[in-house]
Amino acid sequence: MANDTYQLKLVKRLQTRTIYIDNCWIYTGAPSREKSYDAPRIYDKHTSKQYPLARVVYTYLVKPIPKGLIVLHRCDNARCWNPKHLSLGTKQDNSRDMVLKERNYAPSGENSSRSKLKLSQVIDIKTKLASGIGATKLAKELNINRKTIDSIKHGYSWSHVILQNPSSGVV
Ligand SMILES: [Zn+2]
Repeated sequence: MANDTYQLKLVKRLQTRTIYIDNCWIYTGAPSREKSYDAPRIYDKHTSKQYPLARVVYTYLVKPIPKGLIVLHRCDNARCWNPKHLSLGTKQDNSRDMVLKERNYAPSGENSSRSKLKLSQVIDIKTKLASGIGATKLAKELNINRKTIDSIKHGYSWSHVILQNPSSGVV
């Protein structure tokens, strides 16, 4: 069984590699960057195995996961480990979720005054980054937090949005 100490250590370990964007806690320490849209896997000292980040977090910080269920992200960030953004569901739920989110992505209530980006904004940002505009300039121009731009630039969020024929290797 996990005890408080293990939970605390897990949180501290993750926090050293987390950036906070809107309400998401985005884990930046993944073993591999080449597939940055994939859920990162982390080492679970209790079982000495690697599991998807969200699974480990849910198990130890929320509750054990019944067989057959997977952890879903209410936000769209595979790298997010904010327990409030995680819920249990089936693989079918997951595909349905993705379709819904693609159409209409709504922020998850808490602190919704800082609204999430819309897909059209993300495309705009990616296009401008690809054309060589710097993140700082872009943040000012669009009145968006620099960290949000960085997160998109480095593929920590919205990495599933891929531009056709980017004019540079940025996106
Ligand atoms: Zn999140």
